[in-house]
Amino acid sequence: MQPLHLYNTLSRKKELFEPLNPPYVGMYVCGPTVYNYVHLGNVRTFLTFDTLYRYLTFIGYKVRYVRNLTDVGHLVGDGDEGEDKIGRMAKLEKVEPMEIVQRFTNDFHNVMAQFNTISPSIEPTATGHMVEQIEAVQTLLAKGLAYESNGSVYFDIDAYNQRGGNYGKLSGRILDDLLNETRELDGQSEKRSPLDFAIWKNASPEHIMRWNSPWGEGFPGWHLECSCMSMKYLGKQFDIHGGGMDLKFPHHECEIAQGDGLTGVEPVRYWMHSNMLTVNGQKMSKSLGNSFLPAELFAGNHPLLDQPYSPMTVRFFMLQSHYRSTLDFSNDALKAAQKGYRRLANGLRIAKTLTYQPATDESGPISEDKQQDIRQAVQQFYDALNDDLNTAVGIAQLFTLLKYINMLYLNQLQSATLGEEVFNLLKSSFVSFMQDVLGLTEEGSYNQSILEGLLTLYREYKEQRQYDKVDQIRTYFKAQGLAIKDMKHQIDWAYEE
Ligand SMILES: [Zn+2]
Repeated sequence: MQPLHLYNTLSRKKELFEPLNPPYVGMYVCGPTVYNYVHLGNVRTFLTFDTLYRYLTFIGYKVRYVRNLTDVGHLVGDGDEGEDKIGRMAKLEKVEPMEIVQRFTNDFHNVMAQFNTISPSIEPTATGHMVEQIEAVQTLLAKGLAYESNGSVYFDIDAYNQRGGNYGKLSGRILDDLLNETRELDGQSEKRSPLDFAIWKNASPEHIMRWNSPWGEGFPGWHLECSCMSMKYLGKQFDIHGGGMDLKFPHHECEIAQGDGLTGVEPVRYWMHSNMLTVNGQKMSKSLGNSFLPAELFAGNHPLLDQPYSPMTVRFFMLQSHYRSTLDFSNDALKAAQKGYRRLANGLRIAKTLTYQPATDESGPISEDKQQDIRQAVQQFYDALNDDLNTAVGIAQLFTLLKYINMLYLNQLQSATLGEEVFNLLKSSFVSFMQDVLGLTEEGSYNQSILEGLLTLYREYKEQRQYDKVDQIRTYFKAQGLAIKDMKHQIDWAYEE
C-alpha cells in the first residue's frame, strides 16, 4: 500500500504526510462566522476535512481536530474597515450579538449533524480567547512586528519581510501587485502600508462588540483568532491546516505571518484548501440568486431545484469529486448521485446481514479471479485515499465491492466460492469504507419489525392470490421511498433506487 500523500498549498505539490509526533496528528480548520445560515460552499469544506479526519483516524492516527467558531472581528467586506458581521445582524434584529451567535451556531451544528460529520475535538470561539489575542498583540508590538495607530494595532508587513518573512508565499501573491490593487482604497491612512492588516481595532462609538485593552476599547482583527487558538491547542507548529480556497488570501497568509512573527517557527506543515462550488457552471453567489442553503436543498424549495435531495445524497455527491476540483451542482448530477447513493445504501444494509456459509458438497471451487478482484478493489480504495484523499476514485472501488455484495444477496454467488477470509474482507471493507471513512449511512429510521410484519402479510396475500392487497402493500412501501424485492429465493425490502 502506498503511504498517505497530501497536496500542500504551500509547496504546490503532493507531499508524503509525516506528522510531527506520530501517531498524533494536529489539525486545524477555519470554522464558520456564525452570523447567518451556513452556506453550501462552507459545507463542502467541512465535509472534506471531516472525511480527512475520519480517514486519518481509520488508518490509526490519533487526531486532535480543532475547528473554531468566529464570533467577533470578521467585518462586512472581509477587510479592516466597517461593521462586524455579527454586530450588524444584532443591530438589524435588535438583539444581543451573542443571540445571533447562538442561533447560527445551533443551526450550523444541526446542519453538520444532518451531514453526519463528526464534531471536532475542540471548537473554540474568538470571544472565548480574548486574553490570548491581547497577549499576542503585545508580543508582536514588543518584537517590532506591529505598531499602534489611533488605538488600533496593525501587523507591519515590511518589518516582517525585512526579517526574513515572505508575506504572499502561500497564495503566490506578489507584493507589488497587491500594492497596486490596494493603492486607491481610502480610509487606510493610519496604516504605514496598505498591505498591513489589523490585529486589534479601535471600536468606534457605534460598534457594539468591544473589549478593554491596553490600546483602549476595541476588538481583535479577524485573522488573529486562528493563530491564537491553533497555537493554544495544537502548539506553535502543527500538522494540517485546512479551509476553503477563498481563505488562502488574505486570511491564511496573515495566519502564517502572525504565527511565524510570534514564535519564529513556521506554524503549519501542510496547508490544504478545498475548491469552490458552482451551479449549472456559474459561481454560486447570493447576488446571482443561484445559491441555496442546505435546508432548501433538503426541502427542494428553491426555484433552481426540481426536487428535494437528502443530506446523504448531497454528501455522496460532494465526495464523488476530488476536493481540489470545482464541483458543479445541477439537478441531473444530483439525481444521478441520489441513485448512486441509494445503491450503496442498499448494499450497506445487505452487507450487514450477510453471513458466511461454509462449503458443502454442491459448492463449486474457490474462484481465485474473484478473490483477486476483491483484494485489488480494497487495495485500490486505500491507494485512492492515500493519493491526496481521492474520494472520487475510492467510491469507484466501493462499487466494485458492491457488485459482489449484490451477487451474494441474489444467490448468484456462494460465499464459499470466495473463501471465508475474502468474504470477511469484502464485508468488513465495504461497511467500514462506506460508514467510517466516507461517513455515508443509511437514511430514514425504519422499524425493522414492522417492515418484516408487512412482508409476512405480503407473502400470505401473494400465496392467496389476493393481488389487490399485494399492490396495496407495495404502495405503502413506495410512499416511504422503499421497494419490495420479490426474488426467487427470498422476499425483502430495499431503498428505492
Ligand atoms: Zn481561520
